[in-house]
Amino acid sequence: MPHDRFGRRIHYLRISLTDACNMRCVYCMPEDQTFLPRKELMQDDEILTLVRLAAELGFDKIRLTGGEPTARAGIVDLVDAISSTPGVNSLSMTTNGVMLAKLAKPLAQAGLQRVNVSLDTLDPQRFERLTRRGSLQDVWAGIEAAQSAGLEPIKLNVVIVRGYNERDVSEIAALTRDRPWQVRFIEMMPFAGATELQMRGMVTHLETRALIESEMGLLEEVNGAELDGEARVYRIPGAAGTIGLISSITQPFCASCTRVRLTADGRLRLCLLREKEVDLLTPLREGISLDEIRQQMQDAIWQKPWGHGLAQEEIPLNRVMNQIGG
Ligand code: SAM
Ligand code: SF4
Repeated sequence: MPHDRFGRRIHYLRISLTDACNMRCVYCMPEDQTFLPRKELMQDDEILTLVRLAAELGFDKIRLTGGEPTARAGIVDLVDAISSTPGVNSLSMTTNGVMLAKLAKPLAQAGLQRVNVSLDTLDPQRFERLTRRGSLQDVWAGIEAAQSAGLEPIKLNVVIVRGYNERDVSEIAALTRDRPWQVRFIEMMPFAGATELQMRGMVTHLETRALIESEMGLLEEVNGAELDGEARVYRIPGAAGTIGLISSITQPFCASCTRVRLTADGRLRLCLLREKEVDLLTPLREGISLDEIRQQMQDAIWQKPWGHGLAQEEIPLNRVMNQIGG
């Protein structure tokens, strides 16, 4: 099991399957974003090799993300192969949900266990303004398909952007009243591509909580508001589901971080909010032995930075969010 030099046990790998996306969310990328040529992306066999090496090191938890992971050709077969890799016990996906109406069932049959679906508003016009080209109806159909396919518990990821969707916070939180879902409000983080909006429009978890409580009454803590992954979890009294608040900026959870990321072009990104990356794809393509690549992974993990440097105005500007894999 790999450890970093701070003693954190790192066993959770998030893989960006592609930087391409069928949406252009304002907090993620610029409207005219271009995507990497296909040959620069990891091919299926390369992903599977790196997953196998990671699993041999002790990674047992994998999340597929992007860009939009369902936009990758052959996604069902890839999920099937990853889920069959010895040592991989948990396989989930973060998706915008647009393709789930079609893909939820085959993905579940291929071994996908859970999905997080991004949904920032229940208002069709505000949805279009935020995503620039998405359809709320498709996403909602996708969420229902995910539930029917047993990709549960359904988690909804919500990024609140000042001036775009603060007024939607309570309505989205209220979805948990009669659904056993977890709605997770995520503080917007700064990267390249949309940095100005990300810095100006961030809504803190305290403000989000206050917005919910002003309409729903006081939230109850679940498990003493202990961290569940990166979220502190609350409940509207009597609700079937829960509310997660993810305070990556104002109250980071670096001490309990267990993850690293693999970018769509095969770099191990050691902290979401730090530029440091280690290229694994080039040595793999150069034919370096798999033992050496496994060792490079282990050495990189040892060097994982403690956490972000936003307080010192160190903003990671070498990539746009969709290229890293959120
Ligand atoms: N396309 C998929 C989706 O939207 O769910 C997966 C990739 S997306 C980059 C992963 C998650 O990152 C989404 O939940 C999205 O809302 C979130 N995200 C994107 N840009 C962000 C930012 N600047 N700050 C915080 N979260 C962000
Ligand atoms: Fe696409 Fe997801 Fe980024 Fe939105 S957040 S543009 S859906 S990658």
